Amino acid sequence: MIALISPSDLLPDDVMIPACTDAPEQFFSEDPHELEQAKVVCRVCPMRQACLAGALERREPWGVWGGALLDRGRVIAYKRAPRRMAGSAA
Ligand code: SF4
Repeated sequence: MIALISPSDLLPDDVMIPACTDAPEQFFSEDPHELEQAKVVCRVCPMRQACLAGALERREPWGVWGGALLDRGRVIAYKRAPRRMAGSAA
């Protein structure tokens, strides 16, 4: 029988796992609402400052890092919702 383990199973009990490890896709979503929710998750993360500093240093191309949304290495306020295609139904 094969036992499945997650990375958090390998860490001592007193090591806090960032909330973004539960749903990493939310932090790289194309949905502006999901990205805003990811920013909220970061607010209580003890790694917030280091996370954002590292992301800026690496010039992360995309995603929510340290409570900020990055696009091509720069912080942007928000992601615009995609435009509806001409002729599509509402
Ligand atoms: S601050 Fe960084 S490590 Fe913490 S939840 Fe947000 S993205 Fe994850």
